[in-house]
Amino acid sequence: MPDAMVAASNSQATSGGTTHQVDVAVVGAGFAGLYLLQRLRKDGFTTVALEEADDVGGTWYWNRYPGARCDIQTIDYCYTFDPELESAWKWSEKYATQPEILRYLGFVADRYDLRRDIRFCTKVTAARWDQATERWLLTTDNGAAVSCRYYIMATGCLSSPKPPEIDGVKDFKGEVYFTGRWPHEEVKLAGKRVAVIGSGSSGIQSIPLIAEQAAHLTVFQRTPNFALPAHNGAATADRVALLEGDRAGYREQARWSGAGVPLPKQTVCSWQLSDPERRERFENAWAIGDLIFMSSQLWADQRVDVDGDALVAELFREKIRTIVKDPGIAASLIPYDHPFGAKRPCLDTNYYATFNRPNVTLVNLRQEPIKSIMASGIKTDKRTFDVDVIVFATGFDAMTGAIMAVHPIKGRGGKSLSDIWANGPQTYLGLTVTGFPNLFMITGPGSPSVLSNMVVSIEQHVDWVVDRLIAMRETGFTTLEATETAQHGWARHMADCSTLTLHRLANTWYTGANVPGKAQGVMPYTGGVGPYRSICNEVVSRGMVGFRLTGPNIAEQCNDGEVVRLQPDVRLVLNMLEEMKLAPIESLGAQGARDFVAEFNADRPAGRPVGEVVDGTLPGTDGPLPYRLYRPATPGPHPIVVYFHGGGWVLGDQQSDDPYCRDMCRRSGMIFVSIGYRHAPEHRFPTAAEDGYVATRWISEHAGELGGQPGSVLVAGWSAGGNIAAVICQLARDRGGPHIAGQLLVCPITDCTFDRPSYNDNATGYFLTRSLMYWFWDIYCSPADRIDPRVSPLRGKLAGLPQAFVVTCEFDPLRDEGIAYGDALAAAGVPVEQLKARGHIHSSFTMVDVVITGVSGRVQMAEALRRFAGLPPERKQGDEGVRPARTATPHKIAAAAE
Ligand code: FAD
Ligand code: NAP
Repeated sequence: MPDAMVAASNSQATSGGTTHQVDVAVVGAGFAGLYLLQRLRKDGFTTVALEEADDVGGTWYWNRYPGARCDIQTIDYCYTFDPELESAWKWSEKYATQPEILRYLGFVADRYDLRRDIRFCTKVTAARWDQATERWLLTTDNGAAVSCRYYIMATGCLSSPKPPEIDGVKDFKGEVYFTGRWPHEEVKLAGKRVAVIGSGSSGIQSIPLIAEQAAHLTVFQRTPNFALPAHNGAATADRVALLEGDRAGYREQARWSGAGVPLPKQTVCSWQLSDPERRERFENAWAIGDLIFMSSQLWADQRVDVDGDALVAELFREKIRTIVKDPGIAASLIPYDHPFGAKRPCLDTNYYATFNRPNVTLVNLRQEPIKSIMASGIKTDKRTFDVDVIVFATGFDAMTGAIMAVHPIKGRGGKSLSDIWANGPQTYLGLTVTGFPNLFMITGPGSPSVLSNMVVSIEQHVDWVVDRLIAMRETGFTTLEATETAQHGWARHMADCSTLTLHRLANTWYTGANVPGKAQGVMPYTGGVGPYRSICNEVVSRGMVGFRLTGPNIAEQCNDGEVVRLQPDVRLVLNMLEEMKLAPIESLGAQGARDFVAEFNADRPAGRPVGEVVDGTLPGTDGPLPYRLYRPATPGPHPIVVYFHGGGWVLGDQQSDDPYCRDMCRRSGMIFVSIGYRHAPEHRFPTAAEDGYVATRWISEHAGELGGQPGSVLVAGWSAGGNIAAVICQLARDRGGPHIAGQLLVCPITDCTFDRPSYNDNATGYFLTRSLMYWFWDIYCSPADRIDPRVSPLRGKLAGLPQAFVVTCEFDPLRDEGIAYGDALAAAGVPVEQLKARGHIHSSFTMVDVVITGVSGRVQMAEALRRFAGLPPERKQGDEGVRPARTATPHKIAAAAE
């Protein structure tokens, strides 16, 4: 039935037995449901919202426990879709209380007259897609079923409280409360013995206030958390000034930020700061009392790198030791089992100090687990605690709980969502699910949702969905469904993103680990609010990539594919470069290009410290050649890797791959000597190769003086440097040495054939372009020389070469010639391993600390070098970002990550 007719029949919509017909049904009347109603109605859709509660508010309706407040500053945690609404409401505090936020949502409902389209006290119990009519039928526990073209679940990420999972709750004779379902009437705790189970945000907010009322409070803590003082009060003056100075700009910045709060991206790394400087930054953040600030503004590596993060965690631990007087209690309150930020940190008011009160006892459930709840209280395996009241602050079946509670949700072909999600949620963009046409989720699993200021994410989702419905109405499409390819691609992109943060290293509700039996995996999108927004926009600008659209009078449209195939950080780098609108390097001339590279490199993050960096020269054929030596901090002598930088035989120098050399020196535990070979056009073919050979021989002969192990050396190089390294192996074999124990070739140039697919597929858009490669070749080498194995090693004899590790990147014009070289080495009997790096570009691995997803590749390169040198495998301490935090208890997720 066309929507126009549906709309007409809506006026006859009935209740009690007949079906309530609308264009769009919304489930939930929290922040998301309310904004949906407002937009849908404004844009001319007939709609109804179904809400289990008897009023609006969602989270802020249900969570009325003492101390409930937001943990994002209220000037950010509010709607921004209507500037008049913004000026009509004034928040009274930096972090508003639950009653104030609930009043605000009531005010919003009244202002837009939303309640008339909300059916309160109505729970949606099941949903079924009818392919014949192309409509959803929603069954409710109260009143008419609802038939709708579009079904939007605004059911909340944290709206389905988790059962306590402790035996005997029903036997307890006292009062029982759940923070997530707190009564509307006053709960009197004065003079009572109260137990709180749980020390997440809800526990941490309520415990200090409960302690003030109760005769005695016993806190049962399973996992300690990091909590930061809120320093609540008036809204922070500097933030208010920023907002009022440019409200539209401030809001726009939030929409494109990492977490939905307008804070800059931190660029200084922890190792660039001294101990006192780091402490000063931490103290400043502690004094500000802002979770997002503390989680993102200390140093650039705090969220992505285990060691960068551990520095924050340790400063936190010091604070806890200072505040809590009893060292034993402090020790129990100090978290060790997860990296800071991997579990949501909490915002507190007097939380740690509460444990100095004489009427408060902390029970560490890691030392004495709860055995059961009895009529009189709680029994651990060591003691019994008689109490009058038990407060369960035990959290939620997060992200999927409320969605799966509507059961069954049957999509196309009668398939049930709970079956399809049995091994964890699968979505496209966190918004839609393959097989479930016209079903949308607001802040669903796979979107930034709970890792962001939720209101910013909600507004983005609502706008995206309603804009799609308008577009469909205008074009005549009536169904929209994500394709399998798109959904698989999104899962892969989610997995790629999750290597960028430390969430995968902790067992939390983000990963489903808090609910026994729940499938585990990082559920929210960890790539950031701004990048996510740009991807959603890209889906549309590329013709609804990943969606199939159908309609009665229009040809089916399916632009199948994956919206993101690049690694997430590579995508950001490329977007940034595109915005810079740089002139093609080849248009700058050789000197101009060199100046550009030097300037570009000056802005990159400084490389990490190594034991020692020594600049020197070695004798070349026509005079000294400069080199830079990177020595590990460990005692030597170390094996030596002779390294050749990239730059198309034209650009770069012995320092230009500094971050890569430092990183590889640290990871491999070997000396890296980067050679300043001579460049074209001043020195054309075969100078680079011959300089490289001379340098390698000299280093091999002087290994002992350089602090290295005498005997054989290894060679490594990136791009044109990979070409030189490959050529040197052939020269060394043919010229009687030096002995080379192994070659690491990263995106090497190996041939002058330009007709392999990667030269076309990746001709533009991935930094190294086909035209730049032509330019390099022209400058270095005449056409007649190009088939010489000293520049095209693929054309040389390959038998008898040292074992090799060849790295190629999917989006690199040189990909196929690197693979061809690896294959040819193998065919010639050379032991060879290939790393074909998915989603990476030519420069991914040398952009250390920018392209974080390159870490695992460099770990593999270092391991290969160690194998070549006959060293035992070693995981370097520190910076690889893949090492889980010290674990007090076995961690499924952490173990999987390792
Ligand atoms: P909700 O507010 O959860 O609303 C969903 C609604 O759907 C509920 O009213 C529920 O009753 C209804 N519903 C669900 N299933 C059904 C069904 N089958 N039938 C009918 N109705 C149904 N986020 C932040 O960004 N900053 C914060 O400071 C912050 N503080 C929080 C504090 C607490 C105590 C909690 C629990 C969460 C907090 N969050 C915070 C997350 C918070 O959930 C979101 O910010 C936001 O309120 C979510 O709005 P929503 O409309 O998407 O979902
Ligand atoms: P939570 O973070 O999941 O915390 C639940 C707590 O209960 C944890 O300490 C957990 O221990 C413990 N627990 C669960 N089951 C238990 C059991 N069977 N026995 C013993 N202990 C058990 O839940 P939450 O505190 O309600 O917070 C959830 C999220 O809501 C927050 O992370 C935040 O996003 C949001 N929230 C925000 C605020 C705010 O400040 N604005 C306030 C409340 C909630 P384990 O850790 O060992 O599982």
